Amino acid sequence: MSRVYNFSAGPAVLPEEVLKEAADEMMDYRGCGMSVMEMSHRSKMFETIINEAEADLRDLMGIPDNYRVLFLQGGASQQFAMVPMNLMKNRVGDYIITGQWAKKAYQEAQLYGKANAVASSADKTFSYIPDVSDLPISEDADYVYICENNTIYGTKYKTLPNTKGKTLVADISSCFLSEPVDVEKYGLLFGGAQKNVGPAGVVIAIIREDLITEDVLPGTPTMLRYKTHADAASLYNTPPAYGIYICGKVFKWLKNRGGLAAMKEYNEKKANLLYDFLDNSKMFRGTVEKKDRSLMNVPFVTGDADLDALFVKEAKAAGLENLKGHRSVGGMRASIYNAMPMEGVETLVAFMKDFEARNG
Ligand code: PMP
Repeated sequence: MSRVYNFSAGPAVLPEEVLKEAADEMMDYRGCGMSVMEMSHRSKMFETIINEAEADLRDLMGIPDNYRVLFLQGGASQQFAMVPMNLMKNRVGDYIITGQWAKKAYQEAQLYGKANAVASSADKTFSYIPDVSDLPISEDADYVYICENNTIYGTKYKTLPNTKGKTLVADISSCFLSEPVDVEKYGLLFGGAQKNVGPAGVVIAIIREDLITEDVLPGTPTMLRYKTHADAASLYNTPPAYGIYICGKVFKWLKNRGGLAAMKEYNEKKANLLYDFLDNSKMFRGTVEKKDRSLMNVPFVTGDADLDALFVKEAKAAGLENLKGHRSVGGMRASIYNAMPMEGVETLVAFMKDFEARNG
C-alpha cells in the first residue's frame, strides 16, 4: 500500500486511523454480521452510532443545550437556500462577500428575498477579509451571513463581524473543527463534511432552537425545513448513514488527540511552517494578506504560469497530490486540514526548497 500526501481542498485527507478502523469493521460491524452501509437507519446499532456522533461533536465544540445538531444532505450548497427559506422572516439577509462561496450564497438568497452585500473583498480578488467592525447592517435584516474560511482564496475571519444584534449565520465548511469555536456567537453554523469532518454527502448544521420554527417561506419543501430534521432527530428520512458513521470516528479521533485547542496548536504549527517558507522564498509567495491567512487552505504562486504547472506536475510525481490552485485563481493551493500530518507539510516545504534551488 502506498499513500500520497493529499492536499486536496475537498473531498480531502482523512485520518489513517479512521480509515483503518472502518476497513476492519467493513464486513462485520461489531459482531452484527453486516457493514454499517447495509444496516437499517432505524436499527439500535445505528441509533447508537448517530447518538454517539452527536454527543462527541457537542463535547468537542462545547455546543450549548439550546442548540440542535442536524445531520443533513445536499451539500453545503443546499444550505445557501435553506438559510433564507427558514430564516428570512422579513425577507432580508445581509451578506459579506469574501469569495465564491459567499457570493453563491448571496445569489441564492436573492431568489427568496432581499439580499444585501454589506461588505466585499472582490476589489482585490478576495485576498483579504474586509473590516467588519462597523458595517451598514440593515435594520430589518433577519441575519448576517459569512463564509468563515474561504477555501478557494485561503482567508479566514480572525474576528467575527459586529452584527449589531442580528443573528450570525456562518458557513464553516473548510474550518470545521480546526480550532475551538464559541458557538453562542452564532445563530446557525453549517458545513459540508468533506474537508475536515468526513466523507462527502453529510452536512452538519448547528442551529439555535429559537430559529427552528414553522414560520418558513411559503413553498419551502418539507425536506428543506430545519424543523423537519430537528423534530425527527435527523432521522426524518434515510440519512447519509455511512458518512455519519465516519464523521463519528473522526470526532473520536479528535477527542483522542486532545480536542480542538490541541488541534488548533497543531494546525498553527503546520501552517506556520509553510507560511514562513513562503515569506522567505525568492520564488514562491502567498497570495493573501498576512492578517487574514487561513490555517487550512494556503494558496501560493511563483508568478509564472509555466513554472506553476511544472511545480504541480513534479510535486505529483513526488507523491504530493492535488496542489493545483482552484481553476478560478490558478497557481497552487495546499489544503492542510486536521488529518494532514506535520510530515506532509515538512515534505512539501522540502520539495519546494528543492524545486526553488533547481529552477531559481
Ligand atoms: N462552502 C465552502 C466554504 C466550500 O469550500 C464549499 C465547497 N468546496 C461549499 C460551500 C460547497 O459545498 P458543497 O459542494 O458541499 O455544496
